[in-house]
Amino acid sequence: MNGQSSVDGSADAQGPRRTAGWPPALIAEGVGPRLPSVLAGIPTYEPGRPAPVGERPSWKLSSNENPYPPLPGVLDAAVAAAGQLNRYPDLTCAALTRALAEHWDVPMDHIAFGTGSIGLIQQLVQISAESGDEIIYAWRPFESYPIVAEISGARSIQVPLTEDEAHDLDAMADAVTDRTRLIFLCTPNNPTGRVLHRTDVVRFLDRIPEQVLVVIDEAYVEFVRDPDAVNALDMYRTRPNVVALRTFSKAYGLAGLRIGYAVAHEPVAAALRKTAVALGVSTIAQSAALASLQREDELLERVSRLVAERSRMREALLAQGWSVPDSHANYLWLRLGERSDTFAAACEAAGVMVRPFACEGVRISIGELGGTDALLRVAQDFAPR
Ligand SMILES: *Cc1c(COP(=O)(O)O)cnc(C)c1O
Repeated sequence: MNGQSSVDGSADAQGPRRTAGWPPALIAEGVGPRLPSVLAGIPTYEPGRPAPVGERPSWKLSSNENPYPPLPGVLDAAVAAAGQLNRYPDLTCAALTRALAEHWDVPMDHIAFGTGSIGLIQQLVQISAESGDEIIYAWRPFESYPIVAEISGARSIQVPLTEDEAHDLDAMADAVTDRTRLIFLCTPNNPTGRVLHRTDVVRFLDRIPEQVLVVIDEAYVEFVRDPDAVNALDMYRTRPNVVALRTFSKAYGLAGLRIGYAVAHEPVAAALRKTAVALGVSTIAQSAALASLQREDELLERVSRLVAERSRMREALLAQGWSVPDSHANYLWLRLGERSDTFAAACEAAGVMVRPFACEGVRISIGELGGTDALLRVAQDFAPR
């Protein structure tokens, strides 16, 4: 079907004649369905831009995706599952729940799935915060946090990162009030890549009242190489208010299938299961995730290659004179301030898509080797200061 013909005024064999300007704006200011006014001020999730299709080589380093295509066994599992597209998926994700419970040595009823961990982030806000309650997270955060917080009507308490791009855990603990319901910790932090240390998180958690839910978002945990890094599952085992958040999107390379999970104590996990979009995690996603777990060694080998590439890119940037935070994720962060958009445009002209955050910085994902080289050439020409 050619979408063009239905809007440019020409006849379309499939449908009625339509004219430019269709459909008319039926809902004008002040008429039609009443939408909460808070929605108008909330930013829309902005995905990393795709690389242009064309003759020239190009690389998408804008979404922290895994550059490797699915492993053959994972693809086979997904294709086999596609044969049952006429059926609803298993609401309980039973086989995958069993496999993860065994993998992490946690009770099955401590696991809850979501349509990606973004789905769970929304559910976590839904189960914990009502209008006027407070949610604390670092700024700049992973961009889903402010969106879901504001939609819920909760107040966002944004605590600036430290000079060296890490969470300011003392300031975050100081920000707790009797309205605080939820705290997001992101480690490694998106977009800066800095990791939180076990001893610091323990000291932080000791200061947080047990009624406050603390979510440790570990979307990139498989890329961590710091022996002192916190592990959310360790924290969850002894603390009823800690939730570990994991995803199959990054290291496991299943971003397109939308599946993530939380590990939390039973009442919290049960609330998450209750607030999930019913049947939202497809059979294809469940089967591919299970197949990925069974091939974890091969996947972690790929992760090691990306970690080596991360070191190569960072060391080259440091040698060029850039200051680059020590990242334990599959991306690097350049705090370019006012020059962020110009740098992103220079990258794009060289076929490299990065993720600019206007007036703050640029996040560069680690992808194919050719992408690193192209990025480094742009960075070389673009003076660090
Ligand atoms: C990518 C990302 C997620 C979301 O991943 P899903 O694809 O929704 O599982 C969650 N948190 C952080 C910090 C991320 O960077």
